[in-house]
Amino acid sequence: MPSMAQGELKSSVLNSKSPIASRFRMRQKIAEHRKSLPIASVEKRLIEEVQKNDILIIVGETGSGKTTQLPQFLFSAGFCREWKMVGITQPRRIAAVTIAKRVAEESDVELGQRVGYSIRFDDCTSSSTRLKYMTDGFLLREALLDPLLSRYSVIVVDEAHERTVHTDVLLALLKEVQRARSKQEGVQTKAGDEIGVKRNGGVLRGCQGRKVSPLKLIIMSASLDARVFSEYFGGAKAVHVEGRQFPVDIFYTVHPETDYVDAALVTIFQIHVEEKPGDILVFLTGQDEIESVERLVKERLEHLPEDKRKLLPLAIFSALPSEQQMQVFAPAPTGFRKVILATNIAETSITIPGIRYVIDPGFVKARTYDPSKGMETLDVVPASKAQSLQRSGRAGREGPGKCFRLYPEREFEKLEESTKPEIKRCNLSNVILQLKALGIDDIVGFDFIDKPSRGAIVKALTELRLLGALTDDCKLEKPAGEQMSQLPLDPVYSRALILANNQFNCLEEMLITVAMLSVESIFYDPREKREEARTSRNHFASVEGDHLTYLSVYRESNEFLEKRKTESSEAKIDKIMKKWCKDNFVNNRSLKHARDTYRQIREHVEQMGFNVSSCGNDMLEYRRCLAASFFLKAAQRQMDGTYRALESGEIVHIHPTSVLFRSKPECVIFNELMQTSKKYIKNLTRIDHLWLAELAPHHYKTDDEMNDFNTRDGMLQTEAF
Ligand code: ADP
Ligand code: MG
Repeated sequence: MPSMAQGELKSSVLNSKSPIASRFRMRQKIAEHRKSLPIASVEKRLIEEVQKNDILIIVGETGSGKTTQLPQFLFSAGFCREWKMVGITQPRRIAAVTIAKRVAEESDVELGQRVGYSIRFDDCTSSSTRLKYMTDGFLLREALLDPLLSRYSVIVVDEAHERTVHTDVLLALLKEVQRARSKQEGVQTKAGDEIGVKRNGGVLRGCQGRKVSPLKLIIMSASLDARVFSEYFGGAKAVHVEGRQFPVDIFYTVHPETDYVDAALVTIFQIHVEEKPGDILVFLTGQDEIESVERLVKERLEHLPEDKRKLLPLAIFSALPSEQQMQVFAPAPTGFRKVILATNIAETSITIPGIRYVIDPGFVKARTYDPSKGMETLDVVPASKAQSLQRSGRAGREGPGKCFRLYPEREFEKLEESTKPEIKRCNLSNVILQLKALGIDDIVGFDFIDKPSRGAIVKALTELRLLGALTDDCKLEKPAGEQMSQLPLDPVYSRALILANNQFNCLEEMLITVAMLSVESIFYDPREKREEARTSRNHFASVEGDHLTYLSVYRESNEFLEKRKTESSEAKIDKIMKKWCKDNFVNNRSLKHARDTYRQIREHVEQMGFNVSSCGNDMLEYRRCLAASFFLKAAQRQMDGTYRALESGEIVHIHPTSVLFRSKPECVIFNELMQTSKKYIKNLTRIDHLWLAELAPHHYKTDDEMNDFNTRDGMLQTEAF
């Protein structure tokens, strides 16, 4: 606290309850914590290495202080002089946010000032921001507006071992940006050049009139295999930061568990009742699972004797409202044990202090893509060995720990060594559109660290052409393709908004739809109250399908909120809304997230010059717009009651959570395909099958037109291409 006078400090220390004294203690604690981190002892050496090398790879054990400390070292070493920034990318939104908050706290500055973050739909930076945490996807988008990324003196690509598709594309792009910047070093940019990003009321941040300077790249990774990155960057130097790791005892189950959620619950209580103090970290696969475990822990606690109830369940997953995100980091109240229910975010991205026990059911939610069928699914699959080791390591950060793997030991040996890079198992249409917008036309020849298959590239190009983003010779279509690349959404959703605006006059409804589809589940569906939930939700249900049902939920909640807005404080409104959600079996966190997302996408489209209008009650236009947008995901009922996805020809089933589960209409469009025991389609709307040929004539023809003699009347065929 350099500005504090000595006398003031002394008297405040005497009065230990004064706010100044408590702030002083907190600052002291933070300074001690920073000094105790393994990375602190190598600060000088690391800075020297950054100065000597244009590309540096830093490998270090999770929790050693890479993400929170290195950017602060760079700031102190002068890498942010004048207008320059250090950008740090994270694969996950929530890591970017929570880490920026922590670093702002450590640096004793207000978040959004010197230290800030930018993620899709949420920008917390200002013209004074010098350390900017962001998602890798966000930086890619920024490159569209400022191809040289000229504000950054250093870019740190963090968590590179995760190998998300955005990280992979970013690495290739940064290689080019670095080359271009060193070639143009010293060139004066024109004063009027509008380089930068226009957001939040039009702040322009670029480096107008300044000289181009070289770019430093730092690649950080938790895994021990730096070779792949080093080779990719032409033998770049790699340094290791030693971590501190205490022994962790690993326990396995004797038999495989049929219900790992239940097994996790049993283990939580077993630890709570039998083991010494220390917090528990449980790895689950997503929001639904986390919330159901959170609820079940609370319910079971009520049946324990008073003195055993001191267990505090806390959730952390990407769609968690921001005011709840930091709760997991706060120490548990005296005598309490925290049980943190997390997705794989807590594997390496964020480190939560106090963990001594880890429960690892051994699963993860992962994207898989079959380019031959054009079908992407999000499935729960076994975690890899590398992931399991990271997970158990979390128990030994501050002392010896225990990890409970909820599967037999022999299963561990069968796990894959590490996770396949995402670029090898996802739909590429989004990144290819980004690359096209960046002026990179030769996708097959692009310098990917791991090349995606040719089939996947061809499929994505075809899909982009069908969606109207690319011309027949695979150039960016103007203006549609350009607009689609600017929206931070999957191309199909961008297309839906563009069509809603240009053709169907239902942009308001489509914005709500896209926002509602961006959350994991809008309805709250407790296992034990399924029937009650279903009945209470009946009044939202639309015979036309799930999209209209979501619209009703959003609209009704909005009306409810509007009526109360004038009469209550914000905190009270939150409470009222929570109750409304509970009564209606709607997931409060998801609805809140959807509401935020709606606001942000609306801002985007308004900036693009769209006029947000509503089709009111004309749901026919809205459904036609859905058909015109999602025509690649249409399915038709078969004789036996199953459905055939028209694009892939696969047999699929309507998911039991859909409002169309019982009525089984003849033809539907859907947004999600899920593989469990069968292939299920989710988020459906009933459409007239003739609309497909009418609204997507470039892709569908009716039999009549094809003069095909042997198929059912009116049956649709996808055109070969
Ligand atoms: P690495 O990137 O090497 O995995 P980090 O820089 O993320 O390590 O974390 C360093 C240390 O900072 C860890 O010990 C962690 O517990 C602590 N830390 C990080 N974020 C917070 C937070 N929000 N609150 C308290 N401690 C935190
Ligand atoms: Mg880190």
